[in-house]
Amino acid sequence: MMKVYFLGTGGGAPSKERNLPAFLVKREGFSALLDCGEGTQYTFMKYGFSSVSLDFVGITHLHGDHVLGLVGLIESMGMLNREKPLYVMGPSNLREFLYSAFEYTHFRPRFELRFIDEFENKDLVIKRFKTCHTVPSQGYVIQEKDRVNLDVEKLNRIGVKDWAMLRKIKEGNDVTVNGSLLRHEDFLITRKGSKVVYTGDTRPCQSTVDASKDADLLIHDSTFLDEPSALTYGHSNASEASSIALESNVKLLALTHISARYTDSRPLLDAARRTFPRVVLPDDLSFINV
Ligand SMILES: [Zn+2]
Ligand SMILES: [Zn+2]
Repeated sequence: MMKVYFLGTGGGAPSKERNLPAFLVKREGFSALLDCGEGTQYTFMKYGFSSVSLDFVGITHLHGDHVLGLVGLIESMGMLNREKPLYVMGPSNLREFLYSAFEYTHFRPRFELRFIDEFENKDLVIKRFKTCHTVPSQGYVIQEKDRVNLDVEKLNRIGVKDWAMLRKIKEGNDVTVNGSLLRHEDFLITRKGSKVVYTGDTRPCQSTVDASKDADLLIHDSTFLDEPSALTYGHSNASEASSIALESNVKLLALTHISARYTDSRPLLDAARRTFPRVVLPDDLSFINV
């Protein structure tokens, strides 16, 4: 199970209610930060999260509201004597941006920043996909791996308890017990891994539909209620986010990047619900289990 924390659900400029974009995805000893608006490290402290234990940062694009918190966050990690490498994904000029900021602020990270195109560990995979904004931009898919477990109850019922035999079955082998053949697939239970997708800033985009197919949670740009200039600024209206959710057949849509002009965000939620019922508009510092 993954836990998604909404650290910043505003966009463009911060408001009293909404911080700039930042989302923390945690899973059993692993944590990934998606986007890092200015002030994200303060939100980390408010939540009691440790930046030193962060494993991965994914930046969607280099507009200031998504990346200006990252230099400060990394420099604080340095002061806290972080040693383990930090995996970083982002547009191709992210590295240059970070290292020029480090140079001008006289900072040299003593831990490694490992720039990568895809991340994988034993439990999950993180991939990027192209989004449709006004500058080079990418979204992220965090996909848990499926887990295969033995149906221990069923095996116990027919008297199979020998660990070597159980191991053989778990590894996908058929076995013979008292003369009868046990097919491994009859005694394995597959638990499907969860899938979380985050778009960053984007127009409604076919590549988002493709990347989000059957996702458990889609966090989609929903900057405006019904604003024709969304097209010019490379953003989505609430109803457009919900059309993408419908087309992708996601289980839950979370609207985010809410413009500071909306002090009451309920109309955005209502507009999205007309097209797609399974939608939420999270407040800052809320979380969803996926
Ligand atoms: Zn933005
Ligand atoms: Zn942007």
